[in-house]
Amino acid sequence: MAYDFDLYVIGAGSGGVRAARFAAGFGAKVAVAESRYLGGTCVNVGCVPKKLLVYGAHFAEDFEQASGFGWSLDEARFDWATLIANKDREINRLNGIYRNLLVNSGVTLHEGHAKIVDPHTVEINGERHTAENILIATGGWPQIPEIPGHEHAISSNQAFFLKELPKRVLVVGGGYIAVEFAGIFHGLGAQTTLLYRGELFLRGFDGSVRKHLQEELTKRGMDLQFNADIERIDKQADGSLKVTLKDGRQLEADCVFYATGRRPMLDNLGLENTGVKLDKKGFVEVDDLYQTAEPSILALGDVIGRVQLTPVALAEGMAVARRLFKPEQYRPVDYKMIPTAVFSLPNIGTVGLTEEEAREAGHEVQIFESRFRPMKLTLTECQERTLMKLVVDAQTDKVLGCHMVGPEAGEIVQGLAIALKAGATKRHFDETIGVHPTAAEEFVTLRTPVGA
Ligand code: FAD
Ligand code: NDP
Repeated sequence: MAYDFDLYVIGAGSGGVRAARFAAGFGAKVAVAESRYLGGTCVNVGCVPKKLLVYGAHFAEDFEQASGFGWSLDEARFDWATLIANKDREINRLNGIYRNLLVNSGVTLHEGHAKIVDPHTVEINGERHTAENILIATGGWPQIPEIPGHEHAISSNQAFFLKELPKRVLVVGGGYIAVEFAGIFHGLGAQTTLLYRGELFLRGFDGSVRKHLQEELTKRGMDLQFNADIERIDKQADGSLKVTLKDGRQLEADCVFYATGRRPMLDNLGLENTGVKLDKKGFVEVDDLYQTAEPSILALGDVIGRVQLTPVALAEGMAVARRLFKPEQYRPVDYKMIPTAVFSLPNIGTVGLTEEEAREAGHEVQIFESRFRPMKLTLTECQERTLMKLVVDAQTDKVLGCHMVGPEAGEIVQGLAIALKAGATKRHFDETIGVHPTAAEEFVTLRTPVGA
């Protein structure tokens, strides 16, 4: 049977755009549907605007530290509306670039909400289109627990468009988004509390990293409340929010920001018209080739709930395009050694196993750690310290993990990820000549294992 398209992609986010562009480049007839914004979460309400706000927040420290280098500034003032307007302009520019990328690569763009009506047919804007393969790349959506008063809370989707910077912000959650946004609000001058239900935030990250960041945020005056959870939120007559915790304590805030994870975006997608199955957490179930239980339908990115990171969605998009239309170039995505950064202030950068994971996996480990005051701060009052840590297999000398908390940790760890991917040993690190004077050189001068 002849179909309208070889591939119909639902969602023009990181994964969908990558799959669509490369499939078209390989000669396939491709359409992509997008209901909200070209570029998806990352470009519009994720990585990109978030990083711009983090840069904005960092200036507070730069101004403070400048006096140590002889600069004197009149009192620095910050205007939220200017930052948001400039950010919006940049995102608009990127939306245009995404449109051109798609159109110039020969992809047909349908703007509207797409619904699957049968395993080979998508309906959008009242029209039906058939395709040999349908790719679900619809991403995720913030999930706020349905506690009484949850309607008064915001998520990251709204935080990027607030009319003004709230004076008092309560951030709920202990993952990437909570920690990053707490840093943004705090850096820009809001009185910020980070409230997390467990013992210590950033579950799954290396223990030293989690503790180090806790100490650094506390030093900066952020209010960290662990083992705490919200029971209800009440709006008061003056518009402020009264937050009652499960232990009976009450807090006041002007904004309650929930960052408690993301669910797959499957709203009105028509999966009931297909044989697609969901996993226990509600994400679309796929096999190693991103194939769902319905043979003509594939899925990738946040909607499959594996690793919710843009570069992973990009890699999956590339893998799908190659497997379908350029099989001789197909390579499976390697989910090991995925580097990642948390753009908290200071940043976290990490790749490979945490100390806890390495021990649990049965490795006999050697740990190398260094904590130091970055050189840039020596002329300032700032007491921030950087942490660098290597987890090494004592038997094979292989470096299993690199972890850092400090300025530009993400930038530094990207390079180390290549070394780890290539199987670097501690000896390779030791024999590498440092770049002086940098913080990064510390990673090649760690000589004595902790406890030795
Ligand atoms: P998305 O990018 O979410 O794209 C899905 C698209 O599908 C959306 O545009 C949506 O509108 C569209 N869509 C949904 N349903 C339909 C439908 N029925 N019809 C038509 N269109 C539809 N990752 C990093 O690597 N680094 C970071 O620094 C980072 N920061 C982040 C910060 C925040 C606040 C958030 C929320 C996420 C962040 N992420 C980051 C994660 C990253 O944004 C996601 O992993 C990535 O965007 C996933 O890509 P995707 O293609 O799966 O989905
Ligand atoms: P995460 O899964 O990272 O963190 C969710 C947090 O919310 C956890 O601390 C979790 O606690 C807590 N939580 C979950 N449910 C509840 C609840 N009902 N009540 C109270 N707390 C709860 O999700 P995020 O929303 O922060 O981010 C989503 C994903 O987006 C990330 O996992 C990441 O993959 C991606 N992302 C990447 C970024 C980057 O690369 N820099 C930046 C931002 C997002 P517990 O640990 O106890 O389960």
